[in-house]
Amino acid sequence: MFSKILIANRGEIAVRIIRTCKEMGIATAVVYSEPDRNSMATRMADEAYFIGGSSASQSYLNVDSVLLALSRSQADALHPGYGFLSENADFAQAVADAGKVFIGPSPSAMKVMGDKISARKTAEEAGVQGVPGRSHCVNSAQDVIDFAQEVDWPVAIKAAYGGGGRGMKVINSASEAESGIESTQREALASFGRSEIYLEKYLSWPRHIEAQIAIDKFGNGIFLGERDCSCQRRHQKLLEECPAPGLSPKVRQAMGQAALKIAKHCGYENLGTIEFLYEKDKFYFLEMNTRLQVEHPVTEMTTGLDLVRLQIEIAAGQSIKDKKATFDPNMHSIECRINAEDVSGGLFSPTPGTITQFDTPGGLGIRLDAGYQSGDSLPSFYDNLVAKLISWGPNRQIAIKRMLQALTEIKIQGIKTNIEAHKAILDHKDFQDNNYSTKWVEEKLNFSNISSLETTSPNKQLALQEQQIQAEVNGKLFNVKLWISPNSQLPQAIPAQASKPLSRSSRKHHGSASKTVIAPMQGVITKIAVEVGQSIAQGEIICVLEAMKMENNVLADQNGVVKEILVSVGDSLSNGDTIIIFE
Ligand code: ADP
Repeated sequence: MFSKILIANRGEIAVRIIRTCKEMGIATAVVYSEPDRNSMATRMADEAYFIGGSSASQSYLNVDSVLLALSRSQADALHPGYGFLSENADFAQAVADAGKVFIGPSPSAMKVMGDKISARKTAEEAGVQGVPGRSHCVNSAQDVIDFAQEVDWPVAIKAAYGGGGRGMKVINSASEAESGIESTQREALASFGRSEIYLEKYLSWPRHIEAQIAIDKFGNGIFLGERDCSCQRRHQKLLEECPAPGLSPKVRQAMGQAALKIAKHCGYENLGTIEFLYEKDKFYFLEMNTRLQVEHPVTEMTTGLDLVRLQIEIAAGQSIKDKKATFDPNMHSIECRINAEDVSGGLFSPTPGTITQFDTPGGLGIRLDAGYQSGDSLPSFYDNLVAKLISWGPNRQIAIKRMLQALTEIKIQGIKTNIEAHKAILDHKDFQDNNYSTKWVEEKLNFSNISSLETTSPNKQLALQEQQIQAEVNGKLFNVKLWISPNSQLPQAIPAQASKPLSRSSRKHHGSASKTVIAPMQGVITKIAVEVGQSIAQGEIICVLEAMKMENNVLADQNGVVKEILVSVGDSLSNGDTIIIFE
């Protein structure tokens, strides 16, 4: 077994992996970026290594920095978590070349499944049908029109390297085909560095159901049950459950067999998830995720297995032959992703900020996997997942009730969250009656009266507190504990430094007579839609600000003519920075 694992990730998943390593007696090291210096994960890990940067590309996606941390930590294995470098085959190869174990599948299996077109082909070769579509690259509007003649509109144009709910356009008629192709290719190139696109029939009322599998080095494979991830917004999952409500044992078994067939066909090893769209009693292969999923806890709560431990054991060469497929379809588990986002009006816009108070829920059948604690800040550079709240019980009804209770107990102050949206979903008759699909949250739920801000604020005793200060020596972090009264001044162990030259001073102070458009949140400018001298009308898009992996249109709130643009594409802005001045 490994003696030390480097976790190349952050947030709740880094914390999750640390916990299992501690249980297994494995030492832990994490990497951290500038804004994560004092994160929950760096506080919990045995060691922490600075990899520089703030944006994901400068830090957690920076292969050289992560590899350097791996060598400095002298860990014998690396756990990539999810997102970031977890599905990067070249990175996995580089880890192996450095003589370390990458906890995940082989680079070749990752490559096959990393491209959605080759993944579709692999599924077909294994005898599993994909969503009706084209398993090759398409380039012209005519391709889209020809395909629609076979399957009817709407058609989805999808980026072969897309992910995270991005890189898909739905086309409803021939007249939209040309522009749909162009814009998907352009966006795919900008977001994923590759422009290849392909086609699928856009299913009108599907459910997203995925199969969890595990395969060891000896080819023993087990199916660990499915998860229903149909509650989504912007094609991103919000709430997941296990088992999928109403799925017949026959379909479940067929899905598990299909998933194992696909995985074995590409020589897959370790844990993986095969995603399917399910409609009218039929399931269709969608894609494979070659890593641990965010929603893995619902499988853990229904199987009793620790999936991170399983990943580590398989990577260390242990057999899973004697592990029983302990899936119990009578147990039920639900996960709510607690995100920092403003759900008002169904917008779900990200809201980075500082958590001033975090009261956690409890009770039988409740688990909380959080990446932050009270006092922690959510940087705008990464995703907006604060915590995952998981409930389980002997049936779905009890799992729903326990979750609803936990959602009333959890209190997060200082940032807006989607807690109220989760209550609305769980309370809804359609959800309780299994009458929903991947479109249901966006099309059927009404969020107009939902507030995102928790208002209750029970006063907390701030008596003697354990405080940590941090000392960073040659890029390695040391935590020092102090017990002090809250009024004491802590020494500044780390000289305050701007995490980046965030804003030109002129962005903050400008003539009060001018009209301005300001940044509504922290973020990075990805597009400027206006020019100096241009007339703008109220409601017009001024620029696009990317925060927490989401693009947000910044709009003019009144009419005018652009006098000065104070930002450029790529600039990092703070909340309140001036973007343009107009008159
Ligand atoms: P990503 O890799 O970005 O997660 P996926 O291909 O896994 O993209 O799809 C994400 C979600 O988008 C699905 O769960 C589903 O809601 C929707 N989706 C994708 N393809 C289709 C399709 N052909 N028809 C209907 N919905 C789709």
